[in-house]
Amino acid sequence: MLPQVSRYDFDQWMVPVYTPANFVPVYASGSTLWDQSGQDYVDFTGGIAVNVLGHAHPDLQRALTEQAERLWHTGNGYTNEPILLLAKQLIEATFADRVFFCNSGAEANEAALKLARKVAHDRFGVNKSGIVAFTNSFHGRTLFTVSVGGQPTYSQDFAPLPSDIYHASFNDLEAAAKLINDHTCAVIVEPIQGEGGVLPADGAFLRGLHTLCKKHKVLLIFDEVQSGVGRTGSLYAYMHYGITPDILTTAKALGGGFPIGAMLTSEDLAQVMSVGTHGTTYGGNPLAGAVAYKVIQLINQPHVMRGVIERHKWIVEALSAINQRLHLFKKVRGLGLLIGAVLNEDYTGKAKEFNLAAAEQRVMVLTAGTNVVRFTPALNISEQEVKTGMARFAVACEHLARGSKT
Ligand SMILES: *Cc1c(COP(=O)(O)O)cnc(C)c1O
Repeated sequence: MLPQVSRYDFDQWMVPVYTPANFVPVYASGSTLWDQSGQDYVDFTGGIAVNVLGHAHPDLQRALTEQAERLWHTGNGYTNEPILLLAKQLIEATFADRVFFCNSGAEANEAALKLARKVAHDRFGVNKSGIVAFTNSFHGRTLFTVSVGGQPTYSQDFAPLPSDIYHASFNDLEAAAKLINDHTCAVIVEPIQGEGGVLPADGAFLRGLHTLCKKHKVLLIFDEVQSGVGRTGSLYAYMHYGITPDILTTAKALGGGFPIGAMLTSEDLAQVMSVGTHGTTYGGNPLAGAVAYKVIQLINQPHVMRGVIERHKWIVEALSAINQRLHLFKKVRGLGLLIGAVLNEDYTGKAKEFNLAAAEQRVMVLTAGTNVVRFTPALNISEQEVKTGMARFAVACEHLARGSKT
């Protein structure tokens, strides 16, 4: 028997960087979770855009356990069949010719930024090192990626920071044009800012960045850690926008809940890397490879992409119906199953209260900043789960609306 543990223990034992919900999930299936006391919750978080096929998908279970019976890990002195199959699959499905595997989104961006710096160093000299990113962007929590990310609260306490990094307003092409020049080596952008508030890029903005990058020989990096793997209704959001980056990063949903990240790029750019220039112990391990291969196989299908668009409608319609009664949201925005309900003036800064009120009604929703309630459910969430979850969310909203008026 294992010893009993509870939510209370978290506050005693963990470095206090999170405030998890009051309940502890112990079991899940599809988009429904159960906690220690057997209560059920509808999951609109999908593990923060990760559990793209829901919880405990039978095909993913099989992929993982079959691989677990064969080979777990060898280190990078050896390759393995699952990761080669995944590489081939990603290359066939995207613009990329080459893949670097790692374990998280931050590591994928770290690899992308290092690649961009090295390309510039090798081909143009050390002065071409500037990185242009966007305010409110999120690229991960390593020192390099928090510095490139556009939220100073995540980086300022850890100075001195990596340098030669500049930030322009998102969706402001003129501001970006002022920062992008021959000294720039990379522009990194999320096609949809996820953590920053579920804010889709304008097509003209991304096209403009692409043109500026070509003009100044700058590499365009799309951070698709949140927007990738079918989330927007296209396998990657760059396909939705019709703008191809030089480097793409993907993680979160790629493993459907098993940790994996990847950086995708062209043959030409990959050639600046050589044996020993970059690496990571677990990157490309067979367990992650086997699961991610199955994830991409199941997701990259027209009927799944159509299903994402359909589910987008269900959720947006339900949110609109709530809003007609209760007037909570300024607007509902996003693409596919990356949806943000932007709170209006009466509820400014109160996104976390929606998350807590929802949990009380047994439905899990995310925040994105302090003014946006975010929905990133599994791409295969059922109609019944959406109905039940939205009915519960409506009750949570009623409680908050009543509370705010008294
Ligand atoms: C979550 C996220 C990351 C960081 O991924 P980790 O796996 O947490 O390191 C980077 N970029 C974007 C756009 C993300 O949403």
